Order: sequence, then C-alpha cells, then structure tokens
Amino acid sequence: MSAFGGWTLWRACVFYLNFTVDIGAFSIRRLFGKRPAQAPKPLAGSLRTENPTERNMDKRLFIKLFLSFIAATIIGTLSHEFGHYIVAKYQGYDASINYRATFASSPDPNNPIVPNSSIAMTLGGPIQTMLTGTIGLILLFFYRKNFYQAAKLSLGQWLIIFLSLFWLRQTANFCTWLGGYFLNGNFSSHGDEIRIANYFDFPTWTVISITAIIGAFVLAIITFKFIPSRQRTTFLTAGLFGGIAGFYFWLIQFGKYIMP
Ligand SMILES: [Zn+2]
Repeated sequence: MSAFGGWTLWRACVFYLNFTVDIGAFSIRRLFGKRPAQAPKPLAGSLRTENPTERNMDKRLFIKLFLSFIAATIIGTLSHEFGHYIVAKYQGYDASINYRATFASSPDPNNPIVPNSSIAMTLGGPIQTMLTGTIGLILLFFYRKNFYQAAKLSLGQWLIIFLSLFWLRQTANFCTWLGGYFLNGNFSSHGDEIRIANYFDFPTWTVISITAIIGAFVLAIITFKFIPSRQRTTFLTAGLFGGIAGFYFWLIQFGKYIMP
C-alpha cells in the first residue's frame, strides 16, 4: 500500500493541475482583493444567468470545506484500509490496520496466505474506494435536479459530493506513480493497482491508468455540473489546501501517534 504515500498531496495537485492557473489567480484576487459593493442575491433556478462577479471566495464555506477535506483524507485512508482488512478477516487471517496500512498474517499453518488470498486482500482496498465513490455518483445522479436548482449546496448535498470524490484516490495514485517515475527513473512495482494488473497479466499501467481517468472525469463532472458556479472557486481552493493539510496532518505528522 506504499504507492499511496503521496496520494493526498497528489490529489490536491490534480485539483489544480486540471483547472488551475486562471482559477487560482482568480481566487487569490477574490480572497485578497475588494469585495463587490453589493452582496450577491441568491438565485433560484438556472445558474447560467448568474453574474460571474458573484463567483467570489466564501470564507465560511472555505473553512468548512477545508476541514471536511482533512476529514475526508483520514476517512478515505482508513476506509480503504478497512477494505483490505475485512477481506483478510473473512479469509480467517489475523489482521490489523494502522494509520496508513493493513497487515495480515495467518495464525493457522493449514490456511497460509497464498497468492489467491493475497490478491483478494489487495483488491479489497481499491474496491472499497471505488464502490464508495460509485455510490456517491449514483446518489448524485439520482438527486441531480436538486443540485441543478441549488444556488448553494446543503449539508447532505456536500456529503454526496465527498462520497463521489472517493474516486480521486485513483487519480492521485496514478499521479504518484507517474511522479515516482520522474523522480526515480523507473515505475514502482508496489501499490494495489500495479499488483492487481500484474496478477491478472494485464499490462502494468492498465488498472492504475484507467481508474485514474475515471477519477478525473468524476472530478470534472462534479466541479462543472454539480457545484454551483458561485461555490466553485471556494470548492477547488479548499480542496487544494484541505488535501495538502490532510496529507500532512494524517500521513506525515499525527497519524502515526493516533493509530501507530
Ligand atoms: Zn491499499
């Protein structure tokens, strides 16, 4: 599970690499520049008529989303590990989770960990991640009309967004894998997706790349179809900073003390 070392950081980078320079410049100008003289009126119905000058930073929303992205990093990491863990337990192994990895061993010499059981445990993590993201997407499309009509999203709507964003782990993994190549000169053979591809004799890059493309599409659809335009800048900015902060606090600084 080592390839997910930098995933949150990369996830945050993906946020910005996809949409970035202009949105970044725009949000900084909004954050530090003059506010519009008049408070924007809430809009019912179509967002297309919305005045672009209303797309400013919402500081209260930023703080809430920033903290939510930190929480999502921790929850996303642990629930992914729980996916590995539950398959290990189901197969009768001893298993434990720490802040960033799952460990399994066999207490029974008659039930050793063979490649079949090992790959099942490996699959457990990404399947948990993608299944959660897909449940989010299904809810998103099921309630799409409520989203299209909202000038601001409700708590429940944000929850659905964050569930769908579980898909971003795949995109972030891919970026980490690609980044590792540029840093080390060779592609890492570690990580769930690489192991899965190798086990099934697919080309090494397939699982990690295809799921990464899906993750990128999910982010684009969420950003441009489901986040109201006036909350978009705040969402992307909070995602960038919250993703980096979550990565730093959990995977580097404090996770090891809280869940050693
Ligand atoms: Zn994993």
